[in-house]
Amino acid sequence: MNKSSIAARLAREELIDMVPYQSARRLQAADKNGAETDVETGAKNNAKVWLNANEAPGPGIYQLTGDSINRYPDFQPEQLLNAYADYCRLPVENILATRGADEGIELLIRTFCKAYKDNILICPPTYGMYAISAENHGAGIVKVPLVNNELDLDGLAQQVGNTKLVFLCSPGNPTGNLLPLAQIEATLELFGQSAVVVVDEAYIEFCPQGSVSNLLSNHPNLVIVRTLSKAFALAGLRCGFTLASTEIITLLSKVIAPYPVPGPVADIAARALEKQALTQMSVRVQENNILRAELSSWLAEQSWCKQVFKSDANFVLFQTPDKDFIFDALTDAGILIRDQSKQLQLDNCLRISIGSARELNLVKQVIDQAFSQALSQPEPKQEPKQEPKQEQQQTLSEN
Ligand SMILES: *Cc1c(COP(=O)(O)O)cnc(C)c1O
Repeated sequence: MNKSSIAARLAREELIDMVPYQSARRLQAADKNGAETDVETGAKNNAKVWLNANEAPGPGIYQLTGDSINRYPDFQPEQLLNAYADYCRLPVENILATRGADEGIELLIRTFCKAYKDNILICPPTYGMYAISAENHGAGIVKVPLVNNELDLDGLAQQVGNTKLVFLCSPGNPTGNLLPLAQIEATLELFGQSAVVVVDEAYIEFCPQGSVSNLLSNHPNLVIVRTLSKAFALAGLRCGFTLASTEIITLLSKVIAPYPVPGPVADIAARALEKQALTQMSVRVQENNILRAELSSWLAEQSWCKQVFKSDANFVLFQTPDKDFIFDALTDAGILIRDQSKQLQLDNCLRISIGSARELNLVKQVIDQAFSQALSQPEPKQEPKQEPKQEQQQTLSEN
């Protein structure tokens, strides 16, 4: 950015050098643009298999009426709220529909944190949007890293009074595991008088028994964020839900935009919560969980795989000294996965979203082939890693 431009001179200084959220989509778009001008990098952009953003493999089919598209939608479309209330077994007064779970996260920070004064607390390695939304708003970030992928309760205890919002991700992204219920309850107690504890349940449909929604009624400092982007296979719809006390929902409603849920979005989302669609969702979850178990045990059998993380979600994280070799082999074959190695504690870790059976078989085939080719060529040329482009694809981000 030209620092003497009118835009740069007027903007909040800290935004000038801020790096926005590096979603899989943004990385891919940047990569495509690069390739058109860069002949040297070869055929890296024939990507067809998307296993880098924890999306569902197949689309649902929904019909739209568009009947009242000339009208503003309701602030919180009744049909949608009722449908989600039935699904999560909470009164509508405890639910706010948002533009994806990400908007819920942002609203919470804007509602509870005074810019340049208050902090949020995160437990890395974790989902990237908590920190990005905080930075955007000017809230500070306190970190209490996970220990063995679980909460460090002593570390959390030391931060009581030093944060307004605590973000827990369960199942964790990119780690994959549910946090122990007792640890979440202990955190709610620790911060009972001083902070709101947000439990991000973006992946909870893959392990519904792990939800803490039953704790809402006796923990006024608990907030849960949910989404239709993962198990409901509606990432493109941008629809999420925040579950909380009526007091908190009322506060968030003052901060959110006046018409946060577009009419067509509400229509499709309500349809996705009907009985039959819920059955389809459960089937999708069962298939996912079978494929995940298969992929995890395949990974565990491979000599190049050091560690497979336990997953309760729709992705698997694993550690390998051959991380770049595997990532590049898959990229060359048009398969995109996510490099998580820049995250705290996740050296040499890659994350694969659970796609279709066919896509995952392709992953195994491509990796197998790459290793057997490398073995049959005793002196693999140590070509210097080309292009900044590759770097870019590997930039940290974790949808
Ligand atoms: C995908 C994801 C989200 C964002 O969900 P959207 O509803 O698509 O905004 C939130 N939290 C975690 C942990 C996620 O992985």
